[in-house]
Amino acid sequence: MTKEGKLIIFSAPSGAGKTTIVQHLLTKIPELEFSISATTRKARGDEKDGKDYYFITKEEFLHLIAKKHFVEFEEVYSGTFYGTLRTEIERIWELGKTVIFDIDVEGGLHLKRKYGKSALAIFVQPPSLEVLKERLTGRGTDSEEKLQERFAKAEKELNYAPRFDIILKNHDLQTACVEAEQLVGNFIA
Ligand code: ADP
Ligand code: 5GP
Repeated sequence: MTKEGKLIIFSAPSGAGKTTIVQHLLTKIPELEFSISATTRKARGDEKDGKDYYFITKEEFLHLIAKKHFVEFEEVYSGTFYGTLRTEIERIWELGKTVIFDIDVEGGLHLKRKYGKSALAIFVQPPSLEVLKERLTGRGTDSEEKLQERFAKAEKELNYAPRFDIILKNHDLQTACVEAEQLVGNFIA
């Protein structure tokens, strides 16, 4: 039996800045280890298999669902699946580390319900939907069609904020990173 540890969940609509903040925390807090999700989407930019995601086919993903290998999974965008593997959480706890997630809002709340007080669920809030759209467009990683899909979903997801343990405002990035360090530091202390 793996000894259970702690979990830190960062959720937000796409473009709010959670990946940027999570990556910052990973450079600052050695007790954290990133939960690498499985996904059926293609690698973007310089993303690496087994580092940013486990990039797998839809057939493999459906097979893992059938075998009950996922703690949670979502069809986050039409035809594109993302999920957290049970083995991934166990791997990190075996290292004696705290798991940190970059995950969509539904998945984040699912994990919070499952792990209760062992988990800290943080919602990253952009200043407005307009700013979020600018950030997502400025990131330059998505086609116009994918951008429209992400905008539509983001509008709904912004309403999920009150259901999280903490709302972390991401207006100025440096301020948000410092606040995130404090929140995470206190939780794992
Ligand atoms: P998410 O993981 O939530 O989809 P990202 O971390 O990829 O979001 O951030 C989306 C884009 O916005 C990136 O290009 C990132 O550099 C930029 N960004 C993140 N936070 C801020 C901020 N506070 N101010 C301006 N740009 C930001
Ligand atoms: P992206 O394609 O931008 O990397 O991710 C799209 C969305 O899927 C983001 O909100 C991201 O946090 C979320 N996501 C990544 N991994 C998982 C996961 O394992 N489960 C769920 N439910 N969402 C995930």
